Amino acid sequence: MNRSSVSRVSAVTMFVAAAIAIVVLPLRPAAHQQKAPASVEATVLVYHRFGPVVRDSMTVRTATFRTQLAYLKEHGYPIVPLRTLVNHLLGKGPAPPERAVVVTIDDGHASVFSEALPLIREYRVPVTLFIYPSAISNASYAMKWDQLAELSRTGLFDIQSHTYWHPNFKTERRRLAPDAFQSFVTMQFAKPRTVLRDKLAVDATMLAWPFGIYDDDLMASATQSGYVAGFTLDRRPVTPREKMMALPRFLVLDSDTSKRFVAMLPREPR
Ligand SMILES: [Zn+2]
Repeated sequence: MNRSSVSRVSAVTMFVAAAIAIVVLPLRPAAHQQKAPASVEATVLVYHRFGPVVRDSMTVRTATFRTQLAYLKEHGYPIVPLRTLVNHLLGKGPAPPERAVVVTIDDGHASVFSEALPLIREYRVPVTLFIYPSAISNASYAMKWDQLAELSRTGLFDIQSHTYWHPNFKTERRRLAPDAFQSFVTMQFAKPRTVLRDKLAVDATMLAWPFGIYDDDLMASATQSGYVAGFTLDRRPVTPREKMMALPRFLVLDSDTSKRFVAMLPREPR
């Protein structure tokens, strides 16, 4: 190959490279978009109580719960553990499958054991249960520690923190002096982690905000106490754009049947 053909080849190579750069470069996502995992869009559902009839607004009839689980199964929505979604968002695990749905249950109500557990077993649903330990084996409406241990043994339940006694942080902030409020907050975050470790050998690093109340200071305190993810009631799908300490969930009520339920679920892939 003589000199002129070498320079012709390199001129062509440069032209092609420049053309590719012009076409490709503007299509490359910005650095912050590249860092985020691929477009995860998962729906996190939150339930509270179950029962044969609707006794209060937070009760979903057991029959409604069955219909919803059957719908998810029939329509091929993969139900994944909350931890799978969180690990992926933290860059520590593979992406959940497309159209993933996550089931969480807040408060540790006795009906989780009596009403929901048989269905959770039947449908093999991974559930993250957020409890506040002050109520367990104490309040008449709550589960007992041995029941929580039984849930753990099914391998379907991940038991996590809903603070120590489910305070309303807005009310407490008004009631307490700043220093006292900060100590109170630290106790509400740290104590459930200690109790869950002692009672169930659980490492509670996920937090559901009581009443869905959170702010930047509370999120910073929760992070300091060792939490890696927090969950709100902000009613939208989880995407990589969300803050780790404020991942949104859809509150499910008994009236969320057919279209209202489907509206919460991830869209079909395009
Ligand atoms: Zn709650």
